[in-house]
This record gives sequence, C-alpha cells and structure tokens, in this order.
Amino acid sequence: MPLDQVSKRLAPQFQHVEGSLIKKIAARATSRSISLAGGLPHESTFVFRGVTWEMDDGSTLTLKNRALTGGTEAEDGAAELPLNYMQGSGMPELCGELRAHMQRYHTPAYDDWAVIPTTGSTDALTKCFQLLMPPPGKKPIILSESLVWAAALAIAAPLGYEVRGLELDSDGMLPSALDVACRQLASEGERAAFLYLTPHGQNPTGTSLSPQRKRDLYALAQEHDLIIVEDDPYRLLFLPADPEETGEAAMPGVMGLPKSLLSVDTDGRVIHLESLSKWVCPGLRLGWLTAPKAFVEGAYRKWNELTIQFPCTVSQSVFCAMLRAWGQEGLDRHLRRLQVHYAKQRRVMHLAARRHLQGLAIWDLPKAGMFILFKVPALKGKGKAETDSVLEELLAEDVLMVPGYAFDPSPEKAAEPAFRATYATASPEKIEEGIARFGKAVARLTEGMKEERAEEKTVPVMD
Ligand code: PLP
Repeated sequence: MPLDQVSKRLAPQFQHVEGSLIKKIAARATSRSISLAGGLPHESTFVFRGVTWEMDDGSTLTLKNRALTGGTEAEDGAAELPLNYMQGSGMPELCGELRAHMQRYHTPAYDDWAVIPTTGSTDALTKCFQLLMPPPGKKPIILSESLVWAAALAIAAPLGYEVRGLELDSDGMLPSALDVACRQLASEGERAAFLYLTPHGQNPTGTSLSPQRKRDLYALAQEHDLIIVEDDPYRLLFLPADPEETGEAAMPGVMGLPKSLLSVDTDGRVIHLESLSKWVCPGLRLGWLTAPKAFVEGAYRKWNELTIQFPCTVSQSVFCAMLRAWGQEGLDRHLRRLQVHYAKQRRVMHLAARRHLQGLAIWDLPKAGMFILFKVPALKGKGKAETDSVLEELLAEDVLMVPGYAFDPSPEKAAEPAFRATYATASPEKIEEGIARFGKAVARLTEGMKEERAEEKTVPVMD
C-alpha cells in the first residue's frame, strides 16, 4: 500500500474528481497518432521564436520554441521553450529537476512522494483548503499559529473555515498547545481538517521551528492523525544565529539549511509548499508542491488542470534552465548572496530597534525570513483602537507597518498588540529612521501608561 494519509482526508466532492478528459486523451498520443482532439493552436502561428534571459551574473539563458526554430538543445545549447497547452502535471524536464532537488535537500523519509509545479504557494494553498474540506456536518477547522499570514486567513474565511491559532514561543508552535487543541476538538466530536504552518521565518512572527519542535509536532500529528500543510517560502532565507554574522562564509548556503517537516514525514501526511517568490522573484508566479504521490497525481493534479491548466510554461522553462545551469554550486552561490543581504538588513533593523525601542517594544531576532514582530506591551489590554492610534501616527509620519491584528485568526480575543516590520527592502538609513519614528510614536501614545512602560523595562530585549 502506498503511504498516503492525505487522499483519505479529501473532501467528498474531490474524492472522485475527474480531471480533464481532453488532457487524458492527449496523454495517449504517440508518434503514430493523428490528433484531431485537443484545441491546440498550431505552433507556426505563435509569435515567439524564443527568448534570452540576462542573468544577474552576466550569463544568459536562451530558450527556443523548437516548433519554429528546429534544432536540439545538444546542437545549439538553448533550452526548450514549450508554448502550447500541456498536461496539468507540468513540464517533465522541470519535474525531474524538482524531484532531484527535493531528494537532495529534503530527502523525504518515504518513497511514494511526487512533485508538481504550482503557480505559487497562494494558489497551491487555496487548492489544499478546497481539497481538504471536511464532509458536511463536520466543522471546517484549521489549526495554525497564533498569528497567521493574512492572505491565508482571508482565503480560509469565505471557504467557511474557522482558524484556531495556537501559542508560539521563539522556537515556534508549542506542542502542548497543539495537543490541547486536538483533545479539545475531539471532545467536541470534531477534528482539524489540517494543521497549517510556516516552519521557517514565519509570517508575521519571524519564528522558526527548532529540529526538536518539528519532531514533537510531527509525533503529535501522527498521534491525532493530522495532515500538515507546510508552507515554506522562507527556508532558503535561513540566517546565522548571531546577528553580527553577515559575511558570506557564515551563511548556511544550500547545504546548511534546516530540514523541513517533510523530511521527518514517515507516513505521507505532509503537503510541502515551496515558492520562487522570495529567492528568485514573485513575478514568475511559480512554486511547487511535494506530497504523497497518489494525492499529487490524483486529486491535486486533476483540480490543477481544471482550474489553471498548468503554470506558465515560460516560467517553468526558464526556472528549469536556471536550475540546470546553476547546479548545486550556482544555487549555493546565489543563496549565500541572498542570505548576506537579509542578514545585513536584519542586523540593521535589530540594532535600530535596540537604539530606539528599549522599554517600548519586545521582539525576537528572526532566524529566517524577512519579518520582525514588535510587541508593544504597554498597549496590552487597551483594545484595537490604541493600536490603530499608533498606526495612524506612523502613517502620518510616513512609516508603513502592519498591525499584528491583521494576522490574528481571532481578532475579537485581542492578542498582544504588535506591529510587523520587514527588513527586506528599505535602505539601512530608512530602516533606522522608520524604527526611530516607530519608537517616538509608541512613546508619545503610551505616555499616559508610563508606569506600565517602566515595568516593561525589566523585560529583557530578546535576541
Ligand atoms: N506563504 C507565506 C507564508 C507567505 O508569507 C507568502 C508571501 O508573503 C506566500 C506564501 C506567497 O507565496 P507565492 O508568492 O508563491 O504565492
């Protein structure tokens, strides 16, 4: 029996979903076939012969539409640029590269897994939400972190999901919180559709699961028979523990990265989402999903081909060519450069916060990703209006930050007042100035709460 805990949790309406019949017929084509089936346009009518991509290191990647240009990759070195309709499972050459990548850097602990290119994690996640909807009569419940990527909450809401946020500390979600939530659900006669988490550089808290946490959470997922949707766009932006380490040699590169939850999955219950957005660029709208083969090649592929057909072939093709041209060495070189950027930016924001936010805010130094969550204890228990006053003051001062409540699955419970800041793009000078203005706004608006602030001064700034 193939290992696959996911397919048996499919929403009833997706258990027997038919994919595209036209694609099924097209998949039967051989060199002898006379195809009068699919509505494929004739490739001689396509306006693109090919494209040359200029890379940041001065090299180029050339992709050719062979239907117009003829020749082979072996002859002219240019990669394939398929421009016609294709199967929902994506470009076979790219799938091969992705499979090798996952095998090398994640090494799933079971055999029956597969990969499929996606149009980015936002769409892949939406599909998971749809595919894993519990049967009628059961409450659609997602367990997740106490603060959750706002778009995931916004997608879950109209689909009818209730998201229950679980407590975190600096090592990520608390296993005890997951255990209690699962037991609570069981006592209500319910169970979670799945556990949704971002294991590295979580958005917005910046937290990363420690290796032990991953093992503990996975063991609980096994005990409570939970599916895990692991949304992992920030793993490649993993950074050294010491904020002063900003040199290339100190960076994890590709080999020093932490293992994902997929790597500890022994029984096919993790759906792992990767995105190009944070380490190549968001505009290609490309990512990939790794999960039990039966799920990937069954319901996911079918739903994919019905709803989007397949991700953009230009994106698939250039990414495939890039991975091949880079190899492990090129990937490592690129990631180190990226990690240096984020490590330097993180250091600037951390130091600025030390200068301007002492006694006003507390934060954890993120181990990965691009966010720091600044908690403002003096606003605790004051309600959303006070957080909004700080926000208004910040906006009036031309500083944009996102209030923590935007990520709160239960805003009515008013979690700790906080603001998310990203160190990804602003210049060091702007980061310094933005944090200074944030400090001034908090100080001014919490002036009447001086005593509480003084007490908070005894709270150490957490690194
Ligand atoms: N998942 C998380 C947790 C994110 O923070 C983001 C972007 O902010 C995404 C997914 C977006 O992924 P994509 O651009 O591949 O749709």
